[in-house]
Amino acid sequence: MTCLPRGGRPAEALEAVEASIEDYWRLLLVEYGVAAGTKEENDLAGMVVADTSAFEWRVVDAALGRLSCTECGGELGAGPTSCESCAQADGFRFAARETDKPATPPGTEHGLRVATAVARARHRYGVRARCGFELGLPGLLEGELPSTPRAQACRAAIDKLTEEECERVTSFEEVARLSSRRVR
Ligand SMILES: [Zn+2]
Repeated sequence: MTCLPRGGRPAEALEAVEASIEDYWRLLLVEYGVAAGTKEENDLAGMVVADTSAFEWRVVDAALGRLSCTECGGELGAGPTSCESCAQADGFRFAARETDKPATPPGTEHGLRVATAVARARHRYGVRARCGFELGLPGLLEGELPSTPRAQACRAAIDKLTEEECERVTSFEEVARLSSRRVR
């Protein structure tokens, strides 16, 4: 489980998404008759990662989390950005299926998947990028997809914050409050 340093609702949302990722994995184990913690589980993870387009993104994320990178030794797809093997695995991650939940705007699930990937491997992203994605997690989890103008306004507000503030804020409201006080 990833502990999101900024805490607050984004951390709670990430915890909920990670729990759902584990739920999807458990269902896959049942489907394939595989026991957790066995070599077969590792083989199944390898099979999923070999053809990510055949599986839901939560299953793919769970599989990647169970495999180690042969190049950097970290979690596959989540190592340092200099690791080519992780870069390739992270690219394949995004070929996985994403199914929008009923009554949510198309693309919400994609947004949630991307925000989750950023929050779980935050060292791979810049301070401002991960701030935007992580703060977006709670809304996306509730099925809200921000409009393009709203997303742009959030990005512009984040740009006015210091890096330290970007790492500390836990909501877009807080970003708006801080950014309204400065001119830049
Ligand atoms: Zn690696």
